[in-house]
Amino acid sequence: MTANIDLIVFTDLDGTLIDHDTYKWGAAQQALTALSDISAGVILASSKTAPEVSALRTELGLGSWPAIVENGAGLLPAHVDAIESTTQYGELRRILDGIPTELRDLFRGFGDVTIDGVVEMTGLSYDAAALAKQRAFSEPGQWLGTDSQKSEFLERLTAHGVVAQQGGRFLTLSFGGNKVDQMRRIIETHHPKYTVALGDAPNDVAMLEHATFGVVVANPHRPPLPPLQGEAGGQIIRTTAAGPLGWNTAILDLLDRLELH
Ligand SMILES: [Mg+2]
Repeated sequence: MTANIDLIVFTDLDGTLIDHDTYKWGAAQQALTALSDISAGVILASSKTAPEVSALRTELGLGSWPAIVENGAGLLPAHVDAIESTTQYGELRRILDGIPTELRDLFRGFGDVTIDGVVEMTGLSYDAAALAKQRAFSEPGQWLGTDSQKSEFLERLTAHGVVAQQGGRFLTLSFGGNKVDQMRRIIETHHPKYTVALGDAPNDVAMLEHATFGVVVANPHRPPLPPLQGEAGGQIIRTTAAGPLGWNTAILDLLDRLELH
């Protein structure tokens, strides 16, 4: 794409660009417009699937940029609405089903249940659960067995190159890749002069620490992130306002500081 791009912004969605409660981003409109005026890139980086991110990316007018989906296990390329087919998810499911039944049955993945099952597991609405179920790169699920059974299960998966990440609620299986890995790839492609990353949760930290400026967006619904690498030196900024309002202020301040107008 564009050579000599000044700035690429990498942003988490829930609790960062998107309000935790209302799911709205309107409070960030002024900063989004300012970014668009200087032709900055804005990369959405979320645990959501491609179909979940795609509609929002269009609404935000960011369709000419890729989006980081499924927590960095994959990318939704620019200018496409959906990932046509990846062999990764199918391959994950095949590997899972090759594991002896007594262990296999202790993992209940999104692919093992109906949309109603995903509603039950996540608390999402039916429509949102239907989109969350359309996976391309990773398989979240619940572990129903003991810790030692889990170790045995994971050992078998590792033998096939499958990586597992234990989150608060879900054990997520993939072939690797996280938000910062994808961020690095995008930076290598576009060589921006500056990068800014914004997030609110532990899975955003590596991205925030890797950017020229990392912005911790306040989220009163979760414990604050501990002091981050670079924070004492001013590379990490914390917003006072939560969600898109904090996002808006932080971006406008940084555009001033970097003299990007
Ligand atoms: Mg978040």
